[in-house]
Amino acid sequence: MPEAVRRTFVVATVPVALVALLGAAAPPSAGSSGVGDPYFPLAGNGGYHVGHYGLTLRYDPGTGHLVGKAVISARATQRLSRFDLDFNGLTVTGLTVDHAKADFSRDGQELVVTPRHVLRKGQRFDVTVTYKGTPGPVTDPDGSLDGWIPTDDGAFVAGEPQGAMTWFPANNHPTDKSSYDFTITVPKGHTAVANGVLLGERTAHGKTTFRWRQSEPMAAYLATATVGKFQVEQFTTRDGIKVYNAVDPREAADAAPVLKKLPSVLEWESKLFGPYPYRAAGSIVDRAPNVGYALETQTRPVYDSAPSLSTLVHESAHQWFGDSVSLTSWKDIWLNEGFATYAEWLYDEQHGGDSAQQAFDALYARPASDGLWEFPPGDPGSGANIFGTPVYARGAMTLHVLRKAVGDRAFFRILRAWAAEHRNGNGTTAQFVRLAERVSGKNLDDLFQIWLYTPGKPNKP
Ligand SMILES: [Zn+2]
Repeated sequence: MPEAVRRTFVVATVPVALVALLGAAAPPSAGSSGVGDPYFPLAGNGGYHVGHYGLTLRYDPGTGHLVGKAVISARATQRLSRFDLDFNGLTVTGLTVDHAKADFSRDGQELVVTPRHVLRKGQRFDVTVTYKGTPGPVTDPDGSLDGWIPTDDGAFVAGEPQGAMTWFPANNHPTDKSSYDFTITVPKGHTAVANGVLLGERTAHGKTTFRWRQSEPMAAYLATATVGKFQVEQFTTRDGIKVYNAVDPREAADAAPVLKKLPSVLEWESKLFGPYPYRAAGSIVDRAPNVGYALETQTRPVYDSAPSLSTLVHESAHQWFGDSVSLTSWKDIWLNEGFATYAEWLYDEQHGGDSAQQAFDALYARPASDGLWEFPPGDPGSGANIFGTPVYARGAMTLHVLRKAVGDRAFFRILRAWAAEHRNGNGTTAQFVRLAERVSGKNLDDLFQIWLYTPGKPNKP
């Protein structure tokens, strides 16, 4: 007993004295294993923000083997004794914090890092992770695959919502946006396509290295490093945007007439939504029959086959809504999908197709038992529903009801203000509602409450 008492005494007094010496700094603590997203509790991590990812990858499509190095430049947002990265599957072969070897352990998708020294709040630090293995996709709550998805000539790489962690260690939540450099080496004859601007391409000893730079902030799920045998086309638009298209030759004939319209689609969307947020654009058209979707990978959407014009319009609209203005919580996914779907309706309306009202009416005619009314788009209920029909279709219907309520002038001012005020940042549904009320001068609480949050088919607006 006396021994225990003495130990208690020591433990209690020494930290108090230390804290007094340090000017009452908070005790160091571990960064949390997630950022508190209700649908994906382990997505992202607490205690730091990432400013930049430098990713160096070597991929062999023949064996499916990947060798990687990630240099993650971060800043501590608390006194940090320990922090997590999201990383799933591949083997870590080395890990340093500021060039000093750090302890690490794996716990499911959490790579738990204990630096040699406690990190001060505000301290900048570099984490270098080397790794290798055979990457594969994750299965999402809705059963679809995302992440590193091997194809017959490379890999289709698309990370919404979880898959970034299948190919690089990340702070994998859209609330942490960062710039990126990619250096990707593949066998000669293959092309590796990432986000942003192509800085250079060099072939030596039977391998080609592609260097890409994404300067504007990007959420990890929007990163790509798609590899395949592609036909490549590069040009600069009238607005100075550098376009890089990579197309699987088997999809080229079907893709060509649609991809040709990309510059005019971006110009049209710029008129509606405000300036295009990035200096680069383009398309990656792969042949990936087991994927079943396209993704708005930043600056350069990736398509699992030749896209339709509507799909190109949709993924392009996401460059404003989703990529530049990113989610704060996956629950607000209608801010991405409702907006991109409404862009399709607007495109049709202004290019000789159905009006948005006709699109709305056709959907509204569906009976109350239809899947469209299964859950309200502002509250999908779980990660399994975030890509469900209501998020897209009823999300777009919500915007149409808003447009009718405030008039075209105010509506398009709201869209432009949303893109401008949250450019390269994040937004929430509550912020969008406040913005719509501010711009229109109307109380819109009931409208949004009914269309975004009330279960069942709403009454005719
Ligand atoms: Zn979408």
